[in-house]
Amino acid sequence: MKNQKIEVNGGATAGASSACAISTHGKTCNEQNADHSPSMLDRRQFFSKGLALAATAPLLTHVATSASAAQTGAPVATSPISARAYGTKSTTGPFQAMEIQRRAVGPNDVLLDILYCGICHSDIHQARDEWASWNPTRFPSIPGHEIVGRVTAVGRAVTKFKVGDIGGVGCLVNSCGTCDNCLADREQNCLNGATFTYNSPEPATGGHTFGGYSDKMVVPEHFVVRIPAGVDLAATAPLLCAGVTTFSPIQHWKVASGQRVGVIGFGGLGHIAVKLAVARKTDVTVFTTSPGKIGDAKKMGARNPVLWSDAAALKALANQFDLLISTVPKAYPMQQFVNLLKLDATLVNVGAMEALQQVHGIDLIHGRKSIAGSMIGGMAETQQVIDFCAARNIKADIEVIRPDQINRAYERVVNKDVRYRFVMDMTA
Ligand SMILES: [Zn+2]
Ligand SMILES: [Zn+2]
Repeated sequence: MKNQKIEVNGGATAGASSACAISTHGKTCNEQNADHSPSMLDRRQFFSKGLALAATAPLLTHVATSASAAQTGAPVATSPISARAYGTKSTTGPFQAMEIQRRAVGPNDVLLDILYCGICHSDIHQARDEWASWNPTRFPSIPGHEIVGRVTAVGRAVTKFKVGDIGGVGCLVNSCGTCDNCLADREQNCLNGATFTYNSPEPATGGHTFGGYSDKMVVPEHFVVRIPAGVDLAATAPLLCAGVTTFSPIQHWKVASGQRVGVIGFGGLGHIAVKLAVARKTDVTVFTTSPGKIGDAKKMGARNPVLWSDAAALKALANQFDLLISTVPKAYPMQQFVNLLKLDATLVNVGAMEALQQVHGIDLIHGRKSIAGSMIGGMAETQQVIDFCAARNIKADIEVIRPDQINRAYERVVNKDVRYRFVMDMTA
């Protein structure tokens, strides 16, 4: 299929691009990163080069002349794109169909026709403003950050995708590209504030980002991962958040064959954590509150699923685990699990974004134990988990629904009544 190349007005973006490269605030430049056009350099090399030159030459001049968009002054050939979306206008919902505008396709952007979007518990927290203390919800709220779509247009500087390719978008759609964390492939920890797929400020529109509960999306190619041919697209979508969120700690703590890994919470994230840890040939234990999920945990390879309510079973497992991955989306008494860690081992929280409960300092001190947090992964790591899973036929267990079933699906997720991820068919 022939690429549809889109020209944009580079002259209009040159100043913003330059400001972005030296900005210390992501809000100024996040969307403008799309207009950097490092045609012969990858993104990291481009920014590194720009920063290195800054020491000896005027950075504004360098960036302006390096960005092909800045050189053309080509007329605008695209305008904002109307898209269908499903959002909520208040904390109490309900979700309803609405029309939104996606920004015009910039030189480094791809336009996706969204095929599938998973429903993550974070979507529910956001839509209901349950993180008001640190991340208040902007309405209308259009969540969704487990997105698989077909590329239908690419900006003229795009090199990674062509029309017809399948791309995936997770929790990030931009970052400053210049800070130490971005340069280390940890865009999720951008020191200037990453742009998240929903509810982040979006300079291009003056509004906020809208997620994947929609039929179209415009994203810089750097923030779109390749989806390998032949995979189950619907069951791959949850890997874009749940997959990388649980893969990243397994990577960071260098989980190795034969180690003992515990997965606390057995839902959307937890069931993928089990599959990933089993694929690493570890000895996996699931801790669940749902007796009805024990059979599934065993089928997925967890050796001895344990109910939280079984105090004797928990006690018998003291000091045995190399890594515990806590996927529970809210706070709970953690001490009972800290007790299960070996000397020097870590409990990593990837689910609860609120004050943690009941951890006694002496128990950390005694065993030199750690409690850590981890948030999704960078773009390189997101591509890595997609490729890792494609090579091993690892996918989420899903229930495919239509977008008009969101309201009911949210209730079922909150009631732990989904096996194990809802994925919406956005073409339905
Ligand atoms: Zn998520
Ligand atoms: Zn950054």
